[in-house]
Parts: sequence; structure tokens; C-alpha cells
Amino acid sequence: MSQYKTCSVTFSKPDYVVPLVVRILTGWMANTLPTGKVEHAAVPDGLGFYAVRSLHANWFVLKMESGEAMIFDAGYWTSGKNGLPWELGNWFCCRKGDAKYKGSLHAIGLDPSRVTVAAMTHSDIDHVGGLPVFENAAVYMGEGERPLVEGEVEHFKGLKAARITGLEYLKDGDQIRFGDYVATCFSTPGHTDGSVSYEFRHLNDSGKVLIFIGDAFFTDKKGHFAPRKLEGIHMHKEQVPGAVDIVLQRCAAIRAQNADANILIVSCHTGLTDYDTLAASPALQESKKDR
Ligand SMILES: [Zn+2]
Repeated sequence: MSQYKTCSVTFSKPDYVVPLVVRILTGWMANTLPTGKVEHAAVPDGLGFYAVRSLHANWFVLKMESGEAMIFDAGYWTSGKNGLPWELGNWFCCRKGDAKYKGSLHAIGLDPSRVTVAAMTHSDIDHVGGLPVFENAAVYMGEGERPLVEGEVEHFKGLKAARITGLEYLKDGDQIRFGDYVATCFSTPGHTDGSVSYEFRHLNDSGKVLIFIGDAFFTDKKGHFAPRKLEGIHMHKEQVPGAVDIVLQRCAAIRAQNADANILIVSCHTGLTDYDTLAASPALQESKKDR
């Protein structure tokens, strides 16, 4: 594996506002998965696939039999070590957050020191807050997210994003290896400027593919694209249907290579859907008619 990096996450402004607002906004609209193993035919052979619930957000783990693991996003939370704002945030929004976070690692049998790769979809704190727990992981983020991470651009008005050190930035099409598996990064901007998705599969099997979209778009309980759902939390909501198109084109390309490919699309706030269900979204049919 590549050399390991130590990642740290700090916040330049009180961080309790964002979790509070996001919690209120998403609390009744999110449709997250419970912490536990996810069984699905699209999971590449030789891996356990787990969802972890962290407040209103999910993050995901792929674990080899050896115990070595890769994560997609990291959820909220670590300890209240970073001073008063953290403590207040903890008290307001994530009481006992640290114990809960560690409890969920225990529940899925994940030793955080065995996580060697952490692929982030974007820099919001409900996705990167847990990163410092994974001291041995190389941490990746889309290059377009750099102005947010460096504090030049804000996602939520008046609040700078998490400042994260020890990151490796990815360009569209860059690949991350994890044993015999590969995650290909592709840009799906709209939710944030640098939001990326990842296509994850075994190197020699194009028939089982997971696509991690982070918050690129949200789906309803049927797994259809829901353009109005949580639209207020996107930086550029007008770009979001474009992100859906990018994901669908990616899926179509996979199917062109392997007509039987099983493709599961994994969101951080609205659970799982599959390519065929997403492609049949009524909202997409409507927007085609309008064009
Ligand atoms: Zn987000």
C-alpha cells in the first residue's frame, strides 16, 4: 500500500451550527440505513459491505477477510478534543457522539487501525468528521473541493468548511487501489463544487459494481431521483440533475461492457438504489419531455 498519512480535521468557526441546521433539515427527510452488514448481489466477491449510521448520515465500509478495510466517507464524529465549539456541538447535536461512533465500529467488527484507504465524496463535516479515527488511512478527496477545504469558498453561508490536512486530491478518472479492487473517481458537482462519486469493483469482475455518490443527489423511498428532496442543502441545485445524468451515463457504460452487470448506487442520506430503478425515475422522464 502507499505510505500512510495522518489526517486531522479542524473547524475555523463554531461547528455546532451546521450539525444543528443539517439535523433539522434532514432529520425528517433523510432515509438512512441502520448500522450493519448490507447483503446485495452487487457487492464484489470477497468483501463484507457495511453501512454505518452517524446521526442523519451514512458512511460505508468494505472489509476484506484479512480485516483490512476501505471506507467511503467517515460520518460525523470523533471526540471533543478540539475545544469549546466541539464540546458545544457535542452537547447540542451529538451527545455521547464519540462513544456512539466507537460503538458503531465495534458493532460491525471494524478495527479502525486496519482502514488503509478513505475515499471522501466531499468535505461536509457529516462526511469527514470521523476521519481522525483512521490514523493509518490514506485519505482522498476530489480536487474541486480544495477551495472549500482551504476556506476560500463556503458551502453554508457564513461557515467555512472543515480544514483537513493530509489529503490526496483526485482528478476526474483517477483510480485508487484497494487490494484486488479499484475505485474510480468521477466528478458529480452540484451538492458542492468538488463533489465526486466513486465506481468500485473487483479488477477482474465487471459484473458487480458499487457506485458511491455521497450527497450528489437524493432519492425517494422507491429509489427514484427526488429533485426537491433536501434541495436547500445543495450549493448549486440547478447542477444536481446533471450529476444524476453523469451517474446514469457511467452505469450505461458499465452495462455496455457487461450486459448483466449488477449496479448498486449508494447515497449517504437516502440509502440504496440500483441503476434500473434510478433510470426509470419519473422526474427524469419529465425533464426529458421538457427539453
Ligand atoms: Zn453534504
